[in-house]
Amino acid sequence: MKCLRCGHELVIEGAIYSPIRTSFRPQSSKFLTLETGDIQTKAVMCKNCGHLEIIGDAMKLRRLTSDPGGSSGNVT
Ligand SMILES: [Zn+2]
Repeated sequence: MKCLRCGHELVIEGAIYSPIRTSFRPQSSKFLTLETGDIQTKAVMCKNCGHLEIIGDAMKLRRLTSDPGGSSGNVT
């Protein structure tokens, strides 16, 4: 994947810790499943410009919110 800021291709995957790994919890999440409402995040950092991008698990977000939306906008 490419850096959204500078277009460089040397992006490194990792995660942001603060001090434990940070997760995203949607306000409208349902708790009917066995899963927690937390969506784990990952991050990529550009080797060229240092741009950091945080990416959440869009599949889980859709499960939690029952959003019938398609696969558009999903970054893998
Ligand atoms: Zn960059």
